[in-house]
Amino acid sequence: MNTEIYLDSNATTSVLPAAVAAAKQAMEQGYGNPSSTHATGLQAKALLDGVRRRASSLLGTGEGRLMFNSGATEGIQTAVLSALCALRERRDAGKHIGSLLVYGATEHKAVPEALAHWNRLLGLNLELRKLPVDAQGRHDLQVLGELIGDTAMLCTMAANNETGVISDLTAIAQLLQQHGADAYWMVDCVQALGKLKLNLAATRIDYAPFSGHKLYAPKGIGMLYVRNGAPFTPLLMGGGQEAGLRSGTENMTGIAALGAVLAALDDGKTFRSHAELAVFHERLVASLERAFPGIVFNMPLALSLPTTLNFSVPGLSSKELLDLFDAARVRVSSGSACSAAKALPSYVLEAMQVPQWRASSAIRMSFGPLIDAQTITEACARIERCGEALRSNCLLPSASSPTPHDGVLQLTFDGFSTWLISDAASATCVVIDPVAALVPRLAALLRCQGYSVRAIVLTAAPADQGAARQALLQALGLEYLADIGTEGELALGQQTLRRVDCEGQAVYVLGQAFAFTGTLASRAIAPLLEAGLLTPDTVLCSARGEQLCSTLRAEQGQPASAPLQLDAKDLSAFLQQHRDAILVDVREGHEQAACVDDVFEGLAMHSVPLSRLAEQVGAWLQQPQRPLVFFCRSGNRSARASACLRSLGHSAAWQLNGGLAMAAAMRETLAIAA
Ligand code: PLP
Repeated sequence: MNTEIYLDSNATTSVLPAAVAAAKQAMEQGYGNPSSTHATGLQAKALLDGVRRRASSLLGTGEGRLMFNSGATEGIQTAVLSALCALRERRDAGKHIGSLLVYGATEHKAVPEALAHWNRLLGLNLELRKLPVDAQGRHDLQVLGELIGDTAMLCTMAANNETGVISDLTAIAQLLQQHGADAYWMVDCVQALGKLKLNLAATRIDYAPFSGHKLYAPKGIGMLYVRNGAPFTPLLMGGGQEAGLRSGTENMTGIAALGAVLAALDDGKTFRSHAELAVFHERLVASLERAFPGIVFNMPLALSLPTTLNFSVPGLSSKELLDLFDAARVRVSSGSACSAAKALPSYVLEAMQVPQWRASSAIRMSFGPLIDAQTITEACARIERCGEALRSNCLLPSASSPTPHDGVLQLTFDGFSTWLISDAASATCVVIDPVAALVPRLAALLRCQGYSVRAIVLTAAPADQGAARQALLQALGLEYLADIGTEGELALGQQTLRRVDCEGQAVYVLGQAFAFTGTLASRAIAPLLEAGLLTPDTVLCSARGEQLCSTLRAEQGQPASAPLQLDAKDLSAFLQQHRDAILVDVREGHEQAACVDDVFEGLAMHSVPLSRLAEQVGAWLQQPQRPLVFFCRSGNRSARASACLRSLGHSAAWQLNGGLAMAAAMRETLAIAA
């Protein structure tokens, strides 16, 4: 079984087959406008009323109003607008209102953004105040107690989307009551639907937004509950649909689909019970702990939805874990907003005051109540496969030592590169320019591969790298390592690493094949060419920058023209046309080891992780016209590989747009090429 395992249900879910059928039926037969008075319209109206009745009964809305809308972001706007309009009216009428708009520090961004927007637009100018959460992610009730007397509107959530932490709404309601607070209270119930029992009319909650796509309905359909007596101002005015609460012809396809989901919730058979979900949750936790020793869960397991896990693994960034899980076809998300270059720490985890490394390397794994035991079993197997892939690539401690690898390895962090030169036969290596953040990884790698470190050298001597060198020595349990002196040499198996000084910095030259140039510009090392120490094709490995590697010939030549991009749909024809083309997988070794799916089955392929690209460029440049097609998970790394080769003068270095994600969708076409 190598199908996709979707564990990102807090972002969105697939659509329940019964909901697809209901939507199709609504489009094909029940296409009437519920405002029309003829039979077709009346049928649509009957559907609309039926779904609302069912939703009202499931959510216990009592005398309250329940309207359909486009989703929770709209529901949040409507709730905030309604409360703030009422506050303005009260203030204009000379009545006292609180001065604070209080929202939980871990709310979805839609909440503070809506508060700030409508507060500004309505000229209310109240103060937005973030309500802190404790280390478990629950609202700080003591602070709330202090603020509540002056709170005009309070916004909290039923369960958090990143961590699954369940709020203590009962305690918040008690606090409101104790203080006789007249604040309007909105509770974002998006992540609670189908997972927590709700009986809204029995609570003090004024507004509760919901979103269909978090529970197997399509995107673009949601609901908003408004307590009987709570103020209301429509966000949309027009034809007076939804009893005037929300104008615009109703999204009947979405409503029909949502109706099917609610019917499934009602029948009690389609979705797994809380107890069953808790068992699945435990099984996933156990597998994660087996796969990633040292894993830390960023949420209290007992106080969270059984469908959500949020964790960090020491030494592994969320990008690396995402790439790894994606290779195993397990779809998870980073708990943080992640850009290709740098992961931003999660504000939710920061609010919980988890250490910075955890806030910026978190992974969220979430599933919906439709999941079955077989999927969980397969998910557990793949999680453990991911752990094994990391072990076999020395990214996690391993009992069995993998065979040492010969060559040049580039490890990068935040635009800085550390280079490792290793010689398998003698099991010796040299580290060049260690970066502090990479020390634990370097130490683990060297220990796991069984390398003996001959030297740890610096091209320049900024203070922090000296400290990183010291930290690496310490992590390796070494007291002292002799440096390579000026114009000195060090034998590394059959090869010689020589130090040459240039403009006050050291350059390390390995044979004539590689030169480790630190931060020196090519102009500064040109004299080494004249001295015969380098050739125009020596691969230059720098300590800084986006460019993976370079050569003097490339630096002095014309810049490469536009990138060569290949769409997955054209790959088959391309390979037919260029029989000598080489497909190059630039994903890292652990991703390749975790792979459960061979998208390019039958096609000849080379595996050259981006971290080992420099090692390979010399060979590729021998045949600068032979087509190379680089691919990776999503297209970013392959774009870098292709740009590097192009800048080095390779005229046929292509990149596969969209990476494996797009190629997988074109699988059938690719089979023809094979
Ligand atoms: N609130 C929470 C807790 C959410 O998880 C989301 C969705 O990410 C939203 C609000 C926004 O929902 P929608 O996508 O329906 O606008």
